[in-house]
Amino acid sequence: MVISGKELSARLKEEMAAQVAAFPDKYGRVPHLVVILVGEDPGSVSYVTGKAKASEVVGIRNTTIRRPDTITETELLTLIDQLNKDDSVDGVLVQLPLPKHISEDKVIAAIAKEKDVDGFHPLNVAALWQKQDCVLPCTPKGIIKMLKAAGVEIRGKRAVVVGRSNIVGLPVAKLLLDENATVTIAHSRTTDLPSVTRNAEILVVAVGRPKFVTDDMVADGAVVIDVGVNRDPDTGKLCGDVDFAAIEPKASVITPVPGGVGPMTICCLMENTIECFLRKMQRAL
Ligand code: NDP
Repeated sequence: MVISGKELSARLKEEMAAQVAAFPDKYGRVPHLVVILVGEDPGSVSYVTGKAKASEVVGIRNTTIRRPDTITETELLTLIDQLNKDDSVDGVLVQLPLPKHISEDKVIAAIAKEKDVDGFHPLNVAALWQKQDCVLPCTPKGIIKMLKAAGVEIRGKRAVVVGRSNIVGLPVAKLLLDENATVTIAHSRTTDLPSVTRNAEILVVAVGRPKFVTDDMVADGAVVIDVGVNRDPDTGKLCGDVDFAAIEPKASVITPVPGGVGPMTICCLMENTIECFLRKMQRAL
């Protein structure tokens, strides 16, 4: 079974649109997401455009603030501070990566945790690891939603996550653990990676290398979630970290690239923005 993140996210966005349509009567306005884009990196421009389009579908107000890549760290931090204090703003997202002269850690930590729709703020990360209420990072959240929508039983399964980044590998491993999988995290220093991945009943790959996972690395009947977004060096087309054509026949469930995890990430960003808005409305009561 190929899980279409595109279809699932379209369905979820429709449901959110119906929810948001009731907000003006209930709360006097709709949620407001502000996205800051620094520079002109084509990948970042395309992600920011995707976020604006999804906001439109869901009925969320979206403001994209563009700044040149010559912006100083202090100027960016001042802008974030203004947005933190702006009561009409519910979510603030700074599109990554940032130019080298700006510390991403400082920028992420500067966003008010209540407006951190990406779920990257250290306090949200800490809350995730302590199983407290928090904003969940979008890609891991989307992956769990996809698994559940496909009817995959996570509890008790051997899950292997390849990749240990702060934004994907580590948090998705934690969410799988919270769903009672037995989780292994593999990385660039893992010895004999194929023997580790072959043991996976659920395999999540977030490495960033085109077609890195080959046929011999996947067990028959495994559930395979491909997070990677790469350019195929042969065709120039988008492709994942998993050799889809080779593995699709043997996997019980697999996600395509494009049209898999990517759309679910944006969908969860919309959900997080609504959550931040609703928490704020509750606090105001
Ligand atoms: P990072 O570069 O931050 O992390 C990559 C991870 O892969 C690291 O932990 C690294 O290990 C591991 N790795 C690299 N080479 C190997 C190897 N040979 N064997 C085993 N592990 C290896 O990437 P991200 O997590 O940010 O992103 C991963 C991919 O997912 C990218 O293609 C990115 O574009 C995509 N992505 C997609 C999203 C979506 O919505 N679809 C969202 C976010 C990312 P080590 O720690 O040892 O260096």
